Amino acid sequence: MKKEQSISVRELYIGIGSNLHNPRKQVDAAIKKLLEQDEFNDLKVSRFYESVPMGPQDQGYYVNCVVRLKSGATPEDILLLLKGIESMMGRVKSPVKWSERIIDLDIILYGDLVYHSETLTIPHKDVADRAFVLQPLIDIDPEIFIPQKGYARDLIKSCLYKNIKKIEK
Ligand code: AMP
Repeated sequence: MKKEQSISVRELYIGIGSNLHNPRKQVDAAIKKLLEQDEFNDLKVSRFYESVPMGPQDQGYYVNCVVRLKSGATPEDILLLLKGIESMMGRVKSPVKWSERIIDLDIILYGDLVYHSETLTIPHKDVADRAFVLQPLIDIDPEIFIPQKGYARDLIKSCLYKNIKKIEK
């Protein structure tokens, strides 16, 4: 597939999660790494939440948040950058779906972009199922609309994974 051209500056929402080695510390470290990237500006962070793991239950609770950044980088370049931060922080690829992880960085939304390739789907395909993503999105922008899915404030009422608890900062 031909590499797409750089696009205009948009609001990029990244979901962050961790359930290993002091998850709160890992989430803070990931935010710091995002701030260091030239491609990202104007960072805003949601509240932090604790969530029950979606996959195997013999793993710890997750700490989750969402950050909003401004970027003009292409979606595939952003994915590479996030994968680079995950590896740098010691993420090991597991064959088990939804297994424990030191850090997970997902592209949730990129302005009103709808994008699909072999490696990437934007908006994130599971965003409408996950309160630990929807609630932080609402924290940042109560009126946030997810292309092809709806308003986060409506989606959260009937989402599949609802079990989250706010963490005091
Ligand atoms: P994960 O298990 O969350 O690290 O994601 C596994 C793979 O999902 C990644 O290596 C990406 O190729 C793919 N993927 C598809 N859509 C997205 C997205 N919106 N954000 C991040 N990864 C995605």
